[in-house]
Amino acid sequence: MLLREANKNLFFERSREDKFHPKPKIVLDKLEQYSSSVGLNIAIDERMFFEILRFAAERIPRVTVTSNGSLIDKKISQRLKKEGVSALKISIDGTEDFHDKNRGYKGAYQKALQAIRYLTAEGIEVRVQSTLMRENTGSIVELMPVLSGLGARVHSIVPVSPIGRARPQRLRRSVGGQASGDLMLSPKEYKDYVLGVNRAAKEINSKTVFEIRPVFGLDFKNNLEVLSTKYKCEALKTTFEITPTGKVVPCSFFPMEMGDIRISGLQDIWVSDRAHQIRRVFDDKLLEGKCRDCQIRKECGGGCPANSYAIYKKHHLGDVYCWK
Ligand code: SF4
Repeated sequence: MLLREANKNLFFERSREDKFHPKPKIVLDKLEQYSSSVGLNIAIDERMFFEILRFAAERIPRVTVTSNGSLIDKKISQRLKKEGVSALKISIDGTEDFHDKNRGYKGAYQKALQAIRYLTAEGIEVRVQSTLMRENTGSIVELMPVLSGLGARVHSIVPVSPIGRARPQRLRRSVGGQASGDLMLSPKEYKDYVLGVNRAAKEINSKTVFEIRPVFGLDFKNNLEVLSTKYKCEALKTTFEITPTGKVVPCSFFPMEMGDIRISGLQDIWVSDRAHQIRRVFDDKLLEGKCRDCQIRKECGGGCPANSYAIYKKHHLGDVYCWK
């Protein structure tokens, strides 16, 4: 289970009347029965943070917290350990200059690194996630050995999604690979980058697992053309998300409401007509275009339908980073 920090600016706006958490204790209590098979992202009001963590850890085998690391000091790390947190997912978008610029203040990078030191000292697994944009391709590669030296368990590189602050208008031109300065790499550029990261990871040869995430999941350890299902989109199959206002949605990139847990039970929402309807968006039988005849469409599932929609205004045209 993932406990995701609320970020009202990116995906969900909290209205004046509707600004508090959707009683996460009630949700977690009901979720106990699903906990071995379902991953849930839930945003928690910071005033209840540790209380909810404890409550979750008592009921669910694996609790992961997502953070930018800025507030994690030795004391907080010890508290996280005490409350039963298994792993911290920390977002770092490159080395110092880029990360500080991207986060808008000097010191953000050093705080994140210090957080990793404190957490690993407590024996908490650290998983770093970097969002790949055109501007930070080199910076992320430079970050890899740094994270390895700090004992991060996983460094996951995820290409930027054309959603939220990364508005489609800035991205549409770059899909063909012509525009420079846009956020997204073109599919061809992305393929070269994946290969480069693979080479860099081999040179580092550490215990840190480096993964780069085309949603269609290349198994680049063995053969680029052999696919693994590791990164297949699991929205509404084994994962979903509850927003700060109680709306149940497939994922934060796909905020299509299936129901409201303040009004209906989770089980009712999960099996509702509305959920069934939305689930069809994730059905690989509906894939179109180049995906229709793709040999690995079953394993891939066509990547992220939310990204496809943001760029092509259709859900089933395949992953926007696919170079096939
Ligand atoms: S063509 Fe479509 S189904 Fe095939 S790998 Fe690319 S995104 Fe996946």
